[in-house]
Amino acid sequence: MDYGEADRILTLLTREMGRISARAPGARRSQKRFAGRLDRFALVAVRLSGPPHRLTLLEAELEEPFLGLRDRLESSAAAAYVVEVSAALSPEGEAQPRIFGLVLEALAHLAEADGPPSPDLLRAFELKALDAAGLMPALDACAACGGPLAGEGIGFSPAGGGAVCPDHAAADPAASPLSPADVHHLRALARAPLGEPRADVGRAAHRRQASALRTFLDAQLGRRPRSAAFLEQVMET
Ligand SMILES: [Zn+2]
Repeated sequence: MDYGEADRILTLLTREMGRISARAPGARRSQKRFAGRLDRFALVAVRLSGPPHRLTLLEAELEEPFLGLRDRLESSAAAAYVVEVSAALSPEGEAQPRIFGLVLEALAHLAEADGPPSPDLLRAFELKALDAAGLMPALDACAACGGPLAGEGIGFSPAGGGAVCPDHAAADPAASPLSPADVHHLRALARAPLGEPRADVGRAAHRRQASALRTFLDAQLGRRPRSAAFLEQVMET
């Protein structure tokens, strides 16, 4: 965000301090001051000064620019989503090393991928980010009654805390429809390393899973991430 005539205020996701804001003096006026090192998605080593609520950026050294994210619309839309969700799940000033590590892993996968981002990578990221923030949805048994997630009519309930049995799905108008195979797939994604290849479940299943998890995530964040609509648009085409 531009600040005054010459400066910029940056939002940084850091390993040691979680999400922070810092003023970068001269970053707006002079292209040379922090040339290329304050680009979106770049991993940088920074030196900061000042108290936690008034940090000033003194130096930034580029460690990994994730160049693969720059010129591809789908990848950069997905990276914007990853970064926005991670920042929203990181309380200001509190270290969240798992979320930080997850962002780096997700950006690396997106930057290295040959084609558009895989829906599985995005779902796995969402599940792991929720887990790291202590908001993991139930996937083993009904979130409401502990009953089995079997048969037709099971759902995914934002208010109920995750997957729900047919009875509890029917009682919750906000629950998204899922199949037992969808829940099984999401469980496997949550447990496997990020980006591990899986058999394709098909477009309809990807849509159901995306919709269920997005609705759940929006409810946890109390809003829809700004980057989500654009990502949905570019992933459809
Ligand atoms: Zn139930």
